[in-house]
Amino acid sequence: MRYSQLFIPTMREVPSGINAISHILMLRAGYVRQLAAGLFIFLPLGWRVLNKINLILKEEMEKIGAQEISMPILHPAEIWQATGRWYTIKEEMFRLKDRTGRDMCLGMTHEEIMAWIASKEIKSYRQLPQIWYQIQTKLRDEARPRGGVLRTREFIMKDSYSFDADWEGLDRSYNLHAEAYHRIFTRCGLKYYQVESDPGIMGDLESHEFMAPTPAGEDDIVICESCGYAANIEVAKSEISTLLPSNLEYKEIYTPNKKSVKEVSEFLGLNEKYFIKTLLVISEKNGPVLVMLRGDQELNEKKLARIIGEFSFATPEQSLEILGVELGFVGPIGHKIKKIADLSIQKDITYVSGANKKDYHLQGIIPGVHFDAQWMDIRKVKEEDKCYKCGGSLKIEKAIEVGNIFKLGTKYTEPLHAYFLDKDGKEKPIIMGSYGIGPARVAAAAIEQNHDSDGIIWPKSIAPFDIEIIPLNMDDEKTVNIAEELYEKLGEIYNSFADRHIEVLIDDRDERPGVKFKDADLIGIPIQVIVGKKVLNENKIEIKKRRTKETKKVSVNKAVVEIINAYYETY
Ligand code: ATP
Ligand code: MG
Repeated sequence: MRYSQLFIPTMREVPSGINAISHILMLRAGYVRQLAAGLFIFLPLGWRVLNKINLILKEEMEKIGAQEISMPILHPAEIWQATGRWYTIKEEMFRLKDRTGRDMCLGMTHEEIMAWIASKEIKSYRQLPQIWYQIQTKLRDEARPRGGVLRTREFIMKDSYSFDADWEGLDRSYNLHAEAYHRIFTRCGLKYYQVESDPGIMGDLESHEFMAPTPAGEDDIVICESCGYAANIEVAKSEISTLLPSNLEYKEIYTPNKKSVKEVSEFLGLNEKYFIKTLLVISEKNGPVLVMLRGDQELNEKKLARIIGEFSFATPEQSLEILGVELGFVGPIGHKIKKIADLSIQKDITYVSGANKKDYHLQGIIPGVHFDAQWMDIRKVKEEDKCYKCGGSLKIEKAIEVGNIFKLGTKYTEPLHAYFLDKDGKEKPIIMGSYGIGPARVAAAAIEQNHDSDGIIWPKSIAPFDIEIIPLNMDDEKTVNIAEELYEKLGEIYNSFADRHIEVLIDDRDERPGVKFKDADLIGIPIQVIVGKKVLNENKIEIKKRRTKETKKVSVNKAVVEIINAYYETY
């Protein structure tokens, strides 16, 4: 294609308040424009990238036998009411009424609709298994749209759904997806991890996320460098070293105005590890709950929420009202309410915690003796912890979730009556799985991982073009002729890496070389072919690899072969 005919509105500066690198570069390089909060327009280059990713998605989905279908975005409320998600999902769902006053919503995801169609059409085990997918728009009124196309309110998702007759079938469909996802993200040129994750609103069974590590990520992931254990911090487990006995005498100590573990630990000259942090939380389902952690540990709110449901931390007033104790002096002893204590608290040593009395703490507390609780893993993994599987060292990295896979079981098929007749003549619910990837997020994550101070460096599989030809002197006939000749010849070559023809962009604008160079580096096409009067005098052209900035002069009559070689060499 010709640059002069393409709409590529590059810009030097972006409006203030835009922080994510992918956002800045997609705006600057003319890939996207923002319509309103969380709503983006994909311009020609942006749309080409998205289509490249979608093509990879389609190819890999078809390889595992997934069949493409298309479902409406507008859904009747009843189907979402049947599974309860009409009620459990709050502001994130766009709701509206049709002209007859009927409740409707815009699809955030399609488990309900998929289970509905399965309930109508799948009657016998002979029709199973099935995998259906679509690449289609989702709408979510996200609380904080951010990072350009990383988190938007309208976005495209590849969502697939598996239907199986039994749990072994689900395992198979799930593993097929995991394998397809490895191929997809590898082909898209992403660095990524497959991590254990919290199923959240999807279900209660096994689930994994595919996470692209980058400082722009919103998630923290825990990675074991020895055994490969990888988990989202929301569910990650770890091992921490046990403490030596403390043998503190059981007695109250006067700690005026010392409330936090840190303050009391400094005041007493005792390591924070020998403290029990006692927190009062109020759960929507369970009422007040007392939560205990070792003094140097932090609460993992997601882990606790999985046990007691959504909760909030008690206010000073609530603490006085419920426990009769000022916050900062609450301890684990007494209080006839539900108690949950983290497993890191040992039962064979003595600790310090609040004395349930203003300005006092209590030392010599023996867990299991002086108080009891439900003992659970509720703490947040730290980098200094050890892997709970192999004892290896852990690292915590920021990452962007680019895809996920969920085992749903019968969570959607039971309420929507998606039953089939099995071999034994018995009626059974279909076992489902669901699997998502956001192509725009993949593109943005690729930029976060692949850029430099001049612009984007596309992994070649998802670049909008493979090669950009840059004639430097548009008034020089020879320059133009050679550039045009290369444009034509390269475009005829079959690109076996991508299973299609080579896609070439020629910058035929009447612009200064400096402008063309800057724009080429900004938009990030993997190979630049520079044709200029000066080098042509030696009967040569230049090939530049965008990623490494390596340039090479090659003679005009070997140019095509050399350009193609450079293209295959780069990644
Ligand atoms: P997140 O935790 O980031 O909100 P999610 O768990 O809600 O993601 P899913 O509902 O499982 O995500 O969606 C599947 C995929 O769709 C995600 O892995 C991501 O690639 C993409 N995706 C989800 N929400 C958005 C969004 N608001 N904007 C762009 N892509 C999204
Ligand atoms: Mg979400």
